[in-house]
Amino acid sequence: MTADEGADRRAELARSLEQTEARIQAACEAAGRPRRDVTLIVVTKFFPASDVELLADLGVTDIGESRDQEAAEKVTGLRTRLGDRLPAVHFVGQLQRNKAASVASYVDVVHSIDRERLAVALDKGAVRAGRQLDVLLQVDLDPDPDPDRGGLPPTEVSGLADRLTAYPSLRLRGLMAVAPLGADPAEAFGRLGAVSEQVRAAYPDATIVSAGMSADLEQAIAAGATHLRVGTAILGSRPPHR
Ligand SMILES: *Cc1c(COP(=O)(O)O)cnc(C)c1O
Repeated sequence: MTADEGADRRAELARSLEQTEARIQAACEAAGRPRRDVTLIVVTKFFPASDVELLADLGVTDIGESRDQEAAEKVTGLRTRLGDRLPAVHFVGQLQRNKAASVASYVDVVHSIDRERLAVALDKGAVRAGRQLDVLLQVDLDPDPDPDRGGLPPTEVSGLADRLTAYPSLRLRGLMAVAPLGADPAEAFGRLGAVSEQVRAAYPDATIVSAGMSADLEQAIAAGATHLRVGTAILGSRPPHR
């Protein structure tokens, strides 16, 4: 990237961040919620580490990634270049068990736990790395659940939350969901809020509700989301998969 290209990209990211911030503020105001209750995670998957540096420079504190190999490479390089300014790293994609130990070594929060075997593998990796990991249970809000999509049916969330207590290096911090395709996101996120309330009754630290992406962040904020995962609206269309 030339210096000019870097400056252009910085201006582009600054503008789209500002537009997204305006949407978040308007939605918080409409919902009567303070802006500080909502954390913006910028999903940087498929975008280069140079974009993360620009975003960190623009004040972004949290990024999301969804593939281990790509994320591991980016985070390793960025840790050297950014030091303390490295944003918190959230793993938001589906996680394979054989990648869990690697992910446990460099991410701060895993959003996509949906089975105990994954928790076992993450715990092992976290212990080996001498780290504590914040984890969220992924809820499948589709009335017609599809095991390939990831996520637990709402009725199974409490059971898995209870089983997580066996893994001391994992801290249950809340829930995550994606609005089902074609569904009304407001209705779906409303159900997520109800499950979250149940889980919080037993686990008061499980306060995170990770919901809302580029297309539905307003509905998520209205339904009580605490963490938004926004990619396209800030970075533009994702480059094609490798
Ligand atoms: C890619 C991704 C996002 C970001 O989606 P956009 O529509 O680009 O904002 C959010 N959450 C998850 C789980 C993702 O995989």
